[in-house]
Amino acid sequence: MSSSQLPAQPKPKSPLRKRGSLQNTVSPDLRGVATAKALPSQRSLPGTPVCHKHFTIDLRTSMDGKYKEIAEELFTRSLADSEMRSAPYEFPEDSPIEQLEERRHRLERQISQDVKLEPDILLRAKQDFMKIDSTADLELLKEQNEVCVDHGPKERDNQGSLILEREFQRVSISGEEKCGVPFTDLLDAAKCVVKALFIREKYMALSMQSFCRTTARYMQELGEKPLELHVYEEIPETPVAADAPVHPPVSKTHPYEGQDPKNMPLDVGYGLKMVDGVVHVYTKSHFMEKNTELDLPYPDLQAYITDMNMMMALIINGPVKSFCYRRLQYLSSKFQMHILLNEMKELAAQRKVPHRDFYNIRKVDTHIHASSCMNQKHLLRFIKRAMKKYPAEIVHMEKGKGQTLMEVFESMNLTAYDLSVDTLDMHADRNTFHRFDKFNAKYNPIGESILREIFIKTDNYIEGKYFAHIVKEVMSDLEESKYQNAELRLSIYGRSHDEWDKLARWAVRHKVYSDNVRWLVQVPRLFDVYRTKNQLANFQEMLENIFLPLFEVTINPSSHPELHLFLQHVVGFDSVDDESKPEHHIFNLDSPLPFDWTEEDNPPYSYYLYYMYANMTVLNHLRRKRGFHTFVLRPHCGEAGPIHHLVSGFMLSESISHGLLLRKAPVLQYLYYLAQVGIAMSPLSNNSLFLSYHRNPLPEYLSRGLMVSLSTDDPLQFHFTKEPLMEEYSIATQVWKLSSCDMCELARNSVLMSGFTHKVKNYWLGPGYVKEGPESNDIRRSNVPDIRVAFRYETLCEELQLITQAVRSEELDTIEEEDSLSMAPIPGWQ
Ligand SMILES: [Zn+2]
Repeated sequence: MSSSQLPAQPKPKSPLRKRGSLQNTVSPDLRGVATAKALPSQRSLPGTPVCHKHFTIDLRTSMDGKYKEIAEELFTRSLADSEMRSAPYEFPEDSPIEQLEERRHRLERQISQDVKLEPDILLRAKQDFMKIDSTADLELLKEQNEVCVDHGPKERDNQGSLILEREFQRVSISGEEKCGVPFTDLLDAAKCVVKALFIREKYMALSMQSFCRTTARYMQELGEKPLELHVYEEIPETPVAADAPVHPPVSKTHPYEGQDPKNMPLDVGYGLKMVDGVVHVYTKSHFMEKNTELDLPYPDLQAYITDMNMMMALIINGPVKSFCYRRLQYLSSKFQMHILLNEMKELAAQRKVPHRDFYNIRKVDTHIHASSCMNQKHLLRFIKRAMKKYPAEIVHMEKGKGQTLMEVFESMNLTAYDLSVDTLDMHADRNTFHRFDKFNAKYNPIGESILREIFIKTDNYIEGKYFAHIVKEVMSDLEESKYQNAELRLSIYGRSHDEWDKLARWAVRHKVYSDNVRWLVQVPRLFDVYRTKNQLANFQEMLENIFLPLFEVTINPSSHPELHLFLQHVVGFDSVDDESKPEHHIFNLDSPLPFDWTEEDNPPYSYYLYYMYANMTVLNHLRRKRGFHTFVLRPHCGEAGPIHHLVSGFMLSESISHGLLLRKAPVLQYLYYLAQVGIAMSPLSNNSLFLSYHRNPLPEYLSRGLMVSLSTDDPLQFHFTKEPLMEEYSIATQVWKLSSCDMCELARNSVLMSGFTHKVKNYWLGPGYVKEGPESNDIRRSNVPDIRVAFRYETLCEELQLITQAVRSEELDTIEEEDSLSMAPIPGWQ
């Protein structure tokens, strides 16, 4: 599978392959501005770093030309993994987080006191509150409550009482100096932020993942012309009426029943070959050469590294850091003010909505692993039941001899009666804190890996029968709860080509399906383990095992009929493992390509993510061509470990899980805010593993308006009740004193960032949910007051306005001033 005879992409590939010879030839091109000049002959999108292509506006900053150096320095530091008191991306270096927090609280107290001194405001707020909650209203409400069921809100609109409350008290800042930093710093920071957003927009568009519409709109105003690939705007027309019920219609037939491979879409007969770690598709299966290659774009490695270096330099730039830090502080304070002034109104708006409350709004558990989706009591009961029901069933092969379930337990000296939650010993406890290795061992019931294999694996001697049963029980619990949904992760390891088929067969044969559940496929970053055991010769083999079957089934569905069916319920990919494991390699242009990655070391996080993203992008284009749905990337990211994980996550993935480390990196946090990147947070899981509950940044992220949701991660290890997601909400609400409006906002976020279809979301959130601002909200479904949605929207617009305004204002200034702004000489410009 050597790629040398296959010049698949019309771009300069050869220098990338030679290690060591790169430094001199490539690095001058990599310097910011020069790159845009050096690469124009490449294909329009994939080969072009975002730099200055799409807009006339000057985005030069004082860091231009230094990205590579700064980034490499930072990577090296992260390798050293020194116990730095304050990392270079933190702010400010000399002040620990705790002190800052205290200062923030003091500020908040100050603000609230200031407002108390303002009797006018308070009086008006009170009057407003009284107005909407008058006795007449309450009477009317009572009547409605008696009449209305869970369906159409039809007549209610006419009554007028539900003309929803949208007026609220706004916090506005007047005067020119808006953000407390010198104008030149603001300008530099704004340019950097805009560049970073353009980078994300480019990668999202290229891979057909979604990008925040509001942000896109502001960015477009800056651009000379809109980005060519606005794929994410291709949302089909709303088929759902405004007064439709909140439950989507249920299909009567099981999606895995009565499916004949003969009725599947036809074979298009394309050929496949992986070249430099990325699958290439050819129109003829026997003639795989350049002229038969399909034009399925993906980001060129060089462009990716250039963009990543730029992002790395950006997050440690002093003025940018201080600017972002201040904006984040401002956002927190502004939210406090909003709550102070509008809390009562928000509550009143929620009370006015008949029937709807926190219990009957949609919630999606956006991050949960299938192998631990049941709680420990549930698993225990299941094991006991299995021992009673099927004692004689052969469940395992030991040295070529079949073992029955009874024999397995006898060999461990156990009876069904002996088993308890304590002997099962799967709960995370204080001994797992900062010990991911110990946590991983908790996946083994009674510490026995054989029980894990029998009960919570899809691929074992009984073909995952028990596991299918128990997942189906979890599914029926979700269906019973009606409003709870989950996105369960199943594993594909990349050790052999038939893993996908086995997984799909498991799901289809055992009919593991529920309308309340969608799948994500997680790929553990365990190349080093397989390589050491000699199961894989190089990294490319792993990538081939993960991606080639997906391409094959897309080209010819009946070649893997079960996989074709199963994939319809898979929404995307996840990348998992302990992020705190040290990485011994820096991903740059000198890194070996996947085929040459034969060492036993694990490739770094960004390497995994880039190749997953690149292959997924090509696959998505192929699938779109065939009219199939596309996938998204939603990796575990920023739970621990080096900060550049969050940089890769920002560039390549639609949303992430955890994001804990954003609390230490103000620039990234601000960027995640502006781009509204979804963050599925699991504070109970963090509490057992990486960060104690009271220090979890979720309430802070939420107050600033980041797109966060609550999820459980591993109910088997962390939760006690039958409804782990509710447990998660309940604890968060009590510890952080969240309001019912906050809870509903979190739940609404979870639906928005989930992979359920556009159509389903129309029912759950309302037919206008893709619109911007309060238009997108339907309080009768989400129970989130329009006031809250409007506040979030207006705040985001203001931030984007501030940034884009600053970038644009410079256009009007004179050239001399421009010269004084760029501190470094920029070679090759103009
Ligand atoms: Zn997880």
